[in-house]
Amino acid sequence: MDDTSNAYVPGDDASVAPGDHSAMARPAQDPDTGRRAYRQALIDARVLFPSTVDGIYGRSGLFESIADGLNYAVSKLGADQDAEVMRFPPAMPRKDFEASEYLKGFPQLAGTVHCFCGGDREHHRLLARLERGEEWADQQQPTDVVLAPAACYPVYPVVASRGPMPREGLVVDVLTYCFRHEPSIDPARMQMFRQREYVRLGTAEQIVEFRQRWMERGTQLASLLGLPHEVDVANDPFFGRGGKIVADSQRELKLKFELLVPINDGAPPTACMSFNYHMDHFAHAWPLRTADGAPAHTGCVGFGIERLTLALLRHHGFKPANWPQRVRDVLGGI
Ligand code: AMP
Ligand code: ZN
Repeated sequence: MDDTSNAYVPGDDASVAPGDHSAMARPAQDPDTGRRAYRQALIDARVLFPSTVDGIYGRSGLFESIADGLNYAVSKLGADQDAEVMRFPPAMPRKDFEASEYLKGFPQLAGTVHCFCGGDREHHRLLARLERGEEWADQQQPTDVVLAPAACYPVYPVVASRGPMPREGLVVDVLTYCFRHEPSIDPARMQMFRQREYVRLGTAEQIVEFRQRWMERGTQLASLLGLPHEVDVANDPFFGRGGKIVADSQRELKLKFELLVPINDGAPPTACMSFNYHMDHFAHAWPLRTADGAPAHTGCVGFGIERLTLALLRHHGFKPANWPQRVRDVLGGI
């Protein structure tokens, strides 16, 4: 029997049975109330260690063991993909970042790395400003490095540099911390978080087939993990006036789907996985070519490791020893 008695229950209306899809439509209340309550519960239980900045947390051993379990479960699901494993640091060359056109859609989320590049005089000025509690960061100079906004971005220039792809295309397995400047009291909206992805590169048909398969697998994983969920077309926060048009077209063309799980009471459900079709966008940024020399299409499936961990803790409680055996097994026996 599923033992949900140790699930985190902040209010009377809050207990959500696994598979209970009515949980998707929550009663109207200030969504931040539920977010703050769950955040505080995680901090009180020392699952997450807060910092002075919203969205930057330390993770406990408990949190990491669940994160490891999720990576294990995703690897098992993808065992038949013959994927090439690539691991990148959470930073990438600024030149590649510019080529990706991320700044067109999401300038507000980007994180650039700046460093001190002065001499003794500038150093004294820096220390004096610090001493007086004044702003000093405007003296820093941009470097060649930016923080990775998504796990798959560093993959495309690497594959493009190899020349045309084999006829069967390529699947790449990536995992990295990503940065997005979206400070929030929502524990599920962090500024640095991990994305585990399978990235598909090849023809349009290969990408469409891959995305369909992974939407099914993602849904299956959420069911096995006992998480209430639904899949819907996504609404990315494209910047500015022009952003609305891009967002409308993304929805119309159904380029991105998300798997949503209720995490915070009284708030809309949270995107925990995404299923993306980029068409040939990245082949314009880098010379990504199919075996025939045509611009390659790409797509990816992304698993939000932090959000899935928070969803599991929310629905099954803070003690994995009390979780349903079936769920523990899927996570490799945590
Ligand atoms: P996206 O590239 O926006 O499709 O994000 C892929 C996945 O990363 C999402 O489905 C989430 O699970 C996760 N994710 C995105 N933004 C955040 C965030 N601010 N904090 C935690 N996880 C996130
Ligand atoms: Zn991706």
